[in-house]
Amino acid sequence: MYMTNEEWEQNNQDYLKESYEETGFTTGGYAIRKLICGGCGRVFYTTIYTKKYCHSYWCGNQANNRRQREYRQMRRQDLVCQCCGEKFTPKRADARYCSNACRQKDYRKRVTDAASAQNEHLDKCNASAK
Ligand SMILES: [Zn+2]
Ligand SMILES: [Zn+2]
Repeated sequence: MYMTNEEWEQNNQDYLKESYEETGFTTGGYAIRKLICGGCGRVFYTTIYTKKYCHSYWCGNQANNRRQREYRQMRRQDLVCQCCGEKFTPKRADARYCSNACRQKDYRKRVTDAASAQNEHLDKCNASAK
């Protein structure tokens, strides 16, 4: 039966460990690295250059899931409402206001700000025209 390099290494951790401790190389001449799996935290030995997990499928998935969980938790932290300045826990990742009322208030404020800025500009133009 054909074995992938990963499977072979999983079955030969003892050999890799011994070689690593003695010479740092396998009999095939590959450099052995001692790594801590990014998924399960186990120490393992590998000659595969790109390897980060003792089992790239299971432990890679585990690490991915954990990253996603952390990311979601991070996103769920309290935000400060851009309108009233109150802290709130956003229900959506892109939330910026504590409530619909604040969202609408801020939206209206921005519209009137833009309008009054334009009026100011017109006033200045009128003044200099005089
Ligand atoms: Zn692992
Ligand atoms: Zn608010």
